Amino acid sequence: MTANKQPEVNIGLVGHVDHGKTTLVQALSGQWTDQHSEEMKRGISIRLGYADATFRHCPDMDEPERYTVEEECPDGTESEVLRTVSFVDAPGHETLMATMLSGASIMDGAVLVISASEPVPQAQTEEHLMALDIIGIENIVVAQNKIDLVDRDTAEENYAQIQEFVEGTVAEGAPIVPISAQQGVNMDLLIQAIEEEIPTPERDPDAGAEMLVARSFDINRPGTTWENLSGGVLGGSLTRGKLEVDDDIELRPGREVEEGGQTEWQSVETTVRSLQAGGEGVDEVTPGGLLGVGTGLDPAITKGDALAGQVAGPPGTLPPVHEQFTMDVELLDRIVGEDGEDEVDEISTGEPLMLTVGTATTVGSVTSARSGECEVALKRPVCAEPGVKIAINRRVGARWRLIGYGTLMG
Ligand code: GDP
Ligand code: MG
Repeated sequence: MTANKQPEVNIGLVGHVDHGKTTLVQALSGQWTDQHSEEMKRGISIRLGYADATFRHCPDMDEPERYTVEEECPDGTESEVLRTVSFVDAPGHETLMATMLSGASIMDGAVLVISASEPVPQAQTEEHLMALDIIGIENIVVAQNKIDLVDRDTAEENYAQIQEFVEGTVAEGAPIVPISAQQGVNMDLLIQAIEEEIPTPERDPDAGAEMLVARSFDINRPGTTWENLSGGVLGGSLTRGKLEVDDDIELRPGREVEEGGQTEWQSVETTVRSLQAGGEGVDEVTPGGLLGVGTGLDPAITKGDALAGQVAGPPGTLPPVHEQFTMDVELLDRIVGEDGEDEVDEISTGEPLMLTVGTATTVGSVTSARSGECEVALKRPVCAEPGVKIAINRRVGARWRLIGYGTLMG
């Protein structure tokens, strides 16, 4: 099971920690996405993991058995490629909501993984579904996982709990597919549901390129001499248009620079030197999938995700940069998650909020709060078009909790 084309759609894996997201990605892609050593140690996905999978079918077989990720059909013939998808594996741990939220900005649809062996909903099951709702991800498949661990009655009871839980949410009416990711049970049904529920979005071939940067790296080994240094690498997803090797790009907000005792943010320009998509070097990329963009930037600038949250595209075409903005605010009725059913208080002037705008996460201080609207001054500016949805988190106890969403005013 190898992915053999550039992926054309990004599918998020969301849900509570340990419910089997990473195991499911592995079952479909053959890849384990928890790659960072700290993640291995702690057994959780800290940063966004991703892996591509090619869905195939055996045209001579009935549904759902015809759906597969294997290259060979049971009768020995070769399966036909349907499409290649890219899985964005979100962390389920409660402290990593910001990563999940910024990942959601590049998801075209999502698989909500819910374990059949625990009561529904667990805290991040609910919080992640709320986040999908806020960001406007409507194409959802529910995977009822770990059915190998429960008897039939428990599985049916859990199924009914899931149905009740998704009622009135963005996932109402979404297919619920019982699976065992670990045992590879019902993978065909799940692929069929994804094929039907999460279509590849229509893309405008003439739109200017816009890339949301989710990661950035220095890929050089320590001690590499300057003649051999590779330029900084950006990881992320194109929301529109196409990028080609040798294209000039601008990154916004760019970098904070000091001039005459004052600091200001200046966009950064560079050239695309190489492109990686679907696991191989390519000359051109279109939306769908996570890509690696080799640039001419000094790797010191891209090291350690320093440029995560930025927007890249042809110079002069990107949305404006905001150091402060006004947003329309919709608060949730209550704070979701395990601390109970606390009501959400109005936002007050002076309070800090954590805001997710595209792939950017920034802390803002509320400079003026009115009912249904507030003005924030940001620690790190963001590049965004008016009308964009903003996830709003408030500090409650020891952590940031999702309390509502904003819409950036023009
Ligand atoms: P994540 O935190 O949602 O990414 O969960 P993982 O994929 O890391 O899985 C958590 C644990 O559940 C691991 O020990 C998996 O082996 C186990 N697991 C995942 N899927 C299944 C399943 O379908 N059946 C059983 N029995 N265990 C599973
Ligand atoms: Mg995981």
